[in-house]
Amino acid sequence: MIKRTLVIIKPNAVKDKNVGKIINRIEETGFIILGIKMIQLSREEAESFYYVHRGKPFFKDLIDFMTSDKCITMVLEGNYVITNIRNFVGDTDPEKAKKGTIRYEFGDDLSKNAIHASDGIETSKFEVNFFFPEFSWETGKL
Ligand code: ATP
Ligand code: MG
Repeated sequence: MIKRTLVIIKPNAVKDKNVGKIINRIEETGFIILGIKMIQLSREEAESFYYVHRGKPFFKDLIDFMTSDKCITMVLEGNYVITNIRNFVGDTDPEKAKKGTIRYEFGDDLSKNAIHASDGIETSKFEVNFFFPEFSWETGKL
C-alpha cells in the first residue's frame, strides 16, 4: 500500500555536511522524495511538532537542539514507506542502531541522532501536514 512519511535530517547532520550522503542513501534504497525543503525551526514550531514529548525530561534539550540550526525536511512516498524508513533510520540511540542504518553511521548520540522519521500512520499524517500541507494525505492524490 502506498503511503507517505515525514523525514527530517537534523541539525548535526546538516552541520557535518552529511545531507548529500543521506539523500543519496534514501534514493538508492528506492524511496521517492515527493517534497524537500531546508528550514530553521522556531521554538514554537519545534514544540508543536514534538508535542508528544512535552513534559519529558529531555524535552528542553530536544527543542534547543532542533532549533539550533537548519534542518532538511522531506516527504517520502512508497510501499510500506513508514515501516521501511524506520528500519532504514535505525534505533533511536545510535549506539544500539544496527550497522548500515543512518543513525549508526551519522548519529552522534541519543540526542543528536541525525534523522527523524514518523513512527506510524497517524503521526505521519500529522507530520506531513505540518511541513507540507500540499502533500497532506487528505488533500494529496494517493
Ligand atoms: P524521532 O522522533 O526523532 O524520529 P524516535 O521516534 O526514534 O526519534 P522518540 O521517542 O520519538 O524517538 O524521541 C524523539 C527524540 O528525542 C529522539 O530522536 C531523541 O533525539 C530524543 N530522545 C528520546 N529519548 C531520549 C532520552 N531518553 N534522552 C535524551 N533524548 C531522547
Ligand atoms: Mg519519534
